[in-house]
Amino acid sequence: WKTCQENGILGTCLLITKGIAVYFAISSQKGAKLFCPALFFKAEKCMRRNFVLNQRQVIKMVFEIPQKVEMIINILEKAGYEAYAVGGCVRDSIMGLTPNDWDITTSALPSDIKEYFNKTIDTGIEHGTVTVMLHNVGYEVTTYRIDGEYKDGRHPSSVEFSDRLTDDLCRRDFTINAMAYNNVTGLVDEYGGIEDINNRIIKCVGNPIERFTEDALRMMRAIRFSAQLGFTIEADTFKAIEKLNRNIDKVSMERVCVELKKTLLSDNPDYCSLYATTGLFNNILPVIADNLTGRYAKKLLLTCKYTDNELPLRLAAILFVCSPDEARTALRNLRMDNKTIDTVVKILTYAPLHIDETEPAVREALHQCGRDIFMLVIILQRASIKASEEITFISNPAKYNHLNKLQRMADDILERGDCFTIKDLDITGVDLIEYGLKGAEIGNTLNTLLDIVIENPKLNDKATLIALLDNLK
Ligand code: ATP
Ligand code: MG
Repeated sequence: WKTCQENGILGTCLLITKGIAVYFAISSQKGAKLFCPALFFKAEKCMRRNFVLNQRQVIKMVFEIPQKVEMIINILEKAGYEAYAVGGCVRDSIMGLTPNDWDITTSALPSDIKEYFNKTIDTGIEHGTVTVMLHNVGYEVTTYRIDGEYKDGRHPSSVEFSDRLTDDLCRRDFTINAMAYNNVTGLVDEYGGIEDINNRIIKCVGNPIERFTEDALRMMRAIRFSAQLGFTIEADTFKAIEKLNRNIDKVSMERVCVELKKTLLSDNPDYCSLYATTGLFNNILPVIADNLTGRYAKKLLLTCKYTDNELPLRLAAILFVCSPDEARTALRNLRMDNKTIDTVVKILTYAPLHIDETEPAVREALHQCGRDIFMLVIILQRASIKASEEITFISNPAKYNHLNKLQRMADDILERGDCFTIKDLDITGVDLIEYGLKGAEIGNTLNTLLDIVIENPKLNDKATLIALLDNLK
């Protein structure tokens, strides 16, 4: 491979090999391979077939517009309207990622869209969105839109339809999300989206103070995209979030929570520190706002990064310094679902527990927290050790060995089916009543028998347990 000069317009880079030139839709020579492996392989394939491509052909090659999306665009174009794929799908295609969904923007009015397709749903017709159903799959088609005044800091009080694509692109949040594409026109990138992808930057379209004042949710989205893509937030965009962080109270906690979850479940969950440094956490998760900027922040964030990609684990990592009760209150306030809250609270309750490397101690721990939480606690503690090692530059094999041993013992206990709950005892309350026990005695005795069986699981046999009852009298 021989890479050479940059080549304007879409920031195309020319690659030359064996005398054959291939245009490459990425501007940075160095970044090409790292950035966009999908493009790279496609270009390589074409080169093997000795193709010489121009810019437009390369971009066309990069955009694998699903057949149905292309069909919708073609139908609207044939009817005399403009139509483009827009937003996240364009961004992801350029980056060589697979888009989650494909949104279409068009000059056709909602009533026109409905005329050209048999099955449609009025998803958000007042905002110009119609869902076109093709073989039971929905595609959102939205009329070019100019947003009216934002009075509540979150939603435009009115919207106006437009017949100019540029109007629709300028209302979008970030430059990387404000590009459109169709096979006829190619890429429309009026706000430097490609350049910002190449520079790995999240930057508002237009003045960030105005854009965040219009809609405060965009502040959360900036951090979420930065974590998902590993991009830096551009300086003015960042300063605007710092300045306007209090506006986040204009956004429903449910929407805030969605963005926080996406951040924590991204490849860079540690970027959630940006919610603290910008001051957003002061308003939405005050209990850890200081911890994530202070001395202990690095440990918490690295633990969050190294733990498995599961929401309760990542939440427990950043809430590690909170008491279980504090965590419950904070997560309730965030409108997190009950199952996640319960799991986080249990992880935080049992994480400080020291467990001896003996089978009775492991059975006792399994009894107290249950198998699922036990395993989650081990995973979190492993991440915490890895974080400490990275901070102190000192490896700690003894702690890993301890956790590995506990896990192996738990696996054995579970595989053998050792009893560690009252439910698994080979004796029931009814048996104890028959034996002559009454009231509170029954529960107390079951607990005592469980203690004995946890110590020695071989005793979990009805006859043996009944025999033991005589000794307990
Ligand atoms: P994802 O991969 O999470 O779906 P996305 O970029 O597609 O990312 P969506 O929330 O699906 O994000 O929004 C689709 C597009 O609509 C965005 O790319 C952006 O152009 C625009 N958009 C969404 N929310 C806002 C907002 N709050 N303000 C301005 N533009 C927005
Ligand atoms: Mg989307």
